[in-house]
Formats: sequence, structure tokens, C-alpha cells
Amino acid sequence: MKLENVARELADSIGRNKVSTATEDLICYSYDVSTYIKRPDIVVKPETTEDVAAVMKIANREKIAVTPRGSATNNCGGNIPLQGGIVIDMVGMNKILEIDKENLIAVCQPGVINGHLKAEVAKLGFFYPPDPQAMDMCTIGGNIATDAGGPQAVKYGVTRSYVLGLEVVLPTGEVLRTGGKMIKDVSGYNLTQLLVGSEGTLGIVTEITVRLIPMPEARRTMLAVYDDLTDASVAVTRILDNKVVPSMLELLDKTSAVLIQNYIDSGYPTDAEALLLIEVDGSKAEVDTQIIKVRDICSSCGAREVRLANTPEEAEAIWAGRKSGFAALSAYKPVVLPEDCTVPRNKLPQMMRKVQEVAQKYDILIPTFGHAGDGNAHPHICYDPRHPEEIEIAEKAIQDIYKEAIALGGTITGEHGVGIVKKELMPLQHPELNLRLMAAIKQIFDPNNILNPGKGF
Ligand SMILES: Cc1cc2nc3c(=O)[nH]c(=O)nc-3n(C[C@H](O)[C@H](O)[C@H](O)COP(=O)(O)OP(=O)(O)OC[C@H]3O[C@@H](n4cnc5c(N)ncnc54)[C@H](O)[C@@H]3O)c2cc1C
Repeated sequence: MKLENVARELADSIGRNKVSTATEDLICYSYDVSTYIKRPDIVVKPETTEDVAAVMKIANREKIAVTPRGSATNNCGGNIPLQGGIVIDMVGMNKILEIDKENLIAVCQPGVINGHLKAEVAKLGFFYPPDPQAMDMCTIGGNIATDAGGPQAVKYGVTRSYVLGLEVVLPTGEVLRTGGKMIKDVSGYNLTQLLVGSEGTLGIVTEITVRLIPMPEARRTMLAVYDDLTDASVAVTRILDNKVVPSMLELLDKTSAVLIQNYIDSGYPTDAEALLLIEVDGSKAEVDTQIIKVRDICSSCGAREVRLANTPEEAEAIWAGRKSGFAALSAYKPVVLPEDCTVPRNKLPQMMRKVQEVAQKYDILIPTFGHAGDGNAHPHICYDPRHPEEIEIAEKAIQDIYKEAIALGGTITGEHGVGIVKKELMPLQHPELNLRLMAAIKQIFDPNNILNPGKGF
């Protein structure tokens, strides 16, 4: 069937106002935060699970590619409709359906913004910890699809630790329900967890049940300043080794600190080699004891200065810089690739040293910051695409960095996902058997390979 006829059938099926082939829409839905661009042929904006199922049934019958989309903050090309076809925009399904205080559970639609869910549950004294740095923009559906994490993963884990149940429309249009409100369930294979992190290649998430925890009573932030990057990385492992698990433990190298401080005044010293941003939380008594312990460890690892935030505003200023990292780097070069290597935590010093070596080898700046507490470094490869030699160097630097991450027992992506960008790197990390099993799973869920084709592996 011709695409214009498909668009007409979709409009008849789910409503004319939910389907668009207007050029301005097709352009708006052609990109995400990666460097890839490709226009879809049709954009649909479902409002219900039934709408999503109707779209998938038509797409499956006609073998048309469908690319799910939340807020498109994805940095790996996960939203790019590589084969054109349909982009399905999930942000309109944005209701929090229930906050169940007795079971400590929230149920929501996929278009709910992460920060909105956090704020609504906080009003009732609950905490939803997954905190990707784009939390004020990104959707819970996108978070499920990428298994997003953030600074608080060091203590509280990533999205998958909170997902108890899902409603998912399969590529065939069938509606699958997995899990539910129960905390324990070992009946059969865990389809919920298989779907978390599947990057919109196995099904479209239409409803999510997540676990909440009580909001910690107190929190305290500090900034530790180092003249040596290795000392700062060693301090990260010493803190954990001393049985303190901070709620956030972030590391910034000198280049990042300078670029961020030039962009937003966060009080970051610009002559230090590295900064550690640390938050501890818990009961008031716990926080008081732990912050002193962490301060002493940081000092014993060579910190030249340790600043404790004395007010929520001072703490906010320290974290505002870290949150603005990507924007600050984007003001420095037109293209910023936030690489995402994650290594066992005690290998972080080697990983950080390697990034510095790579920067020296190619004579480029690689500002690096990230979730040091979970071994997740984000070396940012910045370049100007108007200079082809910069692109070539960037590609070589990326290869060097990931080879080292794998050699250290790490992964090519700790939180951003594979998308298009990391596809070629998958065999570096995964043996052929693993890749074959993943391909077989995809085949079972999506026999016609219509859902987000060309992503992942
Ligand atoms: C400044 C910045 C900071 C970031 N910081 C972090 C961070 O700290 N941690 C982190 O993990 N990530 C981070 N990210 C990446 C991004 O925010 C996350 O991957 C986020 O989970 C994507 O959510 P989204 O709503 O934007 O989804 P999208 O980008 O729209 O989609 C992401 C993927 O999920 C699929 N998808 C979307 N919705 C659905 C659905 N309902 N069902 C099935 N598949 C779906 C898409 O096809 C795509 O493959 C950052 C990005 C930016 C720009």
C-alpha cells in the first residue's frame, strides 16, 4: 500500500488530529541528540493504548518501520527513523494514573516527564530515585527503554531497579502485560526486565508500574578540590571501601570544570585538576556522621580543599554546574558526543588516565565528567564537523577509549544505550553467542523487523 494510503487508514482508525504528514512535523521528528538526521514519512500521536495497537497492526501488515519517541534526548540515534516510515510520539500519553501509598507504588503513562513524577510523589513523602541529568525533559517511557540512570544510581540503582510491571504493545499490535504491584514474583522468565533497556526494539511501552521508597530525611553536599586527577579517582574507591555509599558521587576533570564555570558560575575553581561533587543522604544523624567521614577521606586522598554546602542554595549551586555540563560543552564546540564507558569502580583511575593519554595522543580536549561512584565516565568528544580532520580524530579517539573500557572489564554503554552510534562496537563487548541470542529474541518479538529497525545490534 502507498504511504499516503497508510496515512489515510491511520487517520481513519485513530483520528485525523493524531496523524500528520506535514513537512514541518516530518522535519521536527527527524533528529535526536545524536548527529544523525532522517525524516519519517508519517508522524502519529497516540492518546491511548488502543491507538498504539491500531498503529502497530497496520504497520505490521504493511511492513512499515515504526520508531517510538519520547522527548528525543537520546544521544545514540535511538529516535532516528532510519528507514523512514512512522514515528510514534508518546509524549501525549502523560498521565500519572495512580500513587498507591499503601503499596509504595506509582502507575503512569510513558509520556510523563521524569522530574514531574519525582515532584508529584515527593509531595506525599515518597522518592522515585532514577535521575538522568535530562530529568526535566525526558519521559519515563524513554527511561524504561534506555534503562536510564544518573548520579543517584551509585546508591539507589538505575531505572530497572524500580520497574515492577509494564503494559507494552508488541510489533504485531498485541498488548502484553507483565508483572504488577507485587514486590516479589519469580513465575517464568522476567519479561519486564527483558523489556527494560530494549531501546524500543521489542515493544512500545504504554503503562508503567514503579516502586517508590520513602524520601530520605536529610541530605548534605560537598565539593572536594584536587590538584591530581588520579588522587580524585582514588578517593572515589576509598569512600566506597570505607563503607560509605554516597547518594551522589560525581567527578569532573579540569577541562570540564573550566568550561562549566565559564558557562555558569557554580563556584568551581578553574585551576584544579579534578573536582569531586558528593552528596550523602539518610537520617539526620547518619548524614552528619557520613559527611564528616567523607570529608576526612577526601582530605587524606590529597584534596587541597573541601567545601561543605551549608544551605540548600549552596548545594543547588554546586549541582547546577554539573547539570549544565552538556550545555557548557555545546557552547565550546558544535558537536559534543557524550561517550559512556563504564568500568568496575576500582578501575576508574586507569580509565581516567587512559582518557588523558588519548587526549594527548590526538592533541584534543576531552572534557570528562560522570557518575564516578558507579564507574561511569563520560569523556566528551567535541568537534567541529566543518573540519573533516576533526571528525577523523574523534572517531579514532572513541575507538581507543572503548577498547580500554573493555580491556578493563567494562562496557561500551552504562546508561545511554546502543542505538545506531554504538552498534559497531557491540562485538567488541559481546561474544557471538550473546549476539545470536539477542537477534533470536528480536525475531520472536518482531518477526517482520518493523520496530525501531537498525538499532542495538
Ligand atoms: C543533557 C542530557 C543529559 C543526559 N543525562 C543522562 C543521564 O544522566 N543518564 C542517562 O541514563 N541518560 C542521560 N541522557 C540521555 C537521555 O536523557 C535518556 O536516555 C532518557 O532516558 C531518554 O528519554 P526520552 O524521553 O528523551 O526518550 P527518547 O530519547 O525519545 O527515546 C529513547 C529511546 O527509547 C525509545 N522509546 C521512547 N519512548 C518509548 C516507549 N514509550 N516505548 C518504547 N520505546 C520508547 C526510543 O525509540 C529510543 O530508542 C541525557 C541526555 C541529555 C541530552
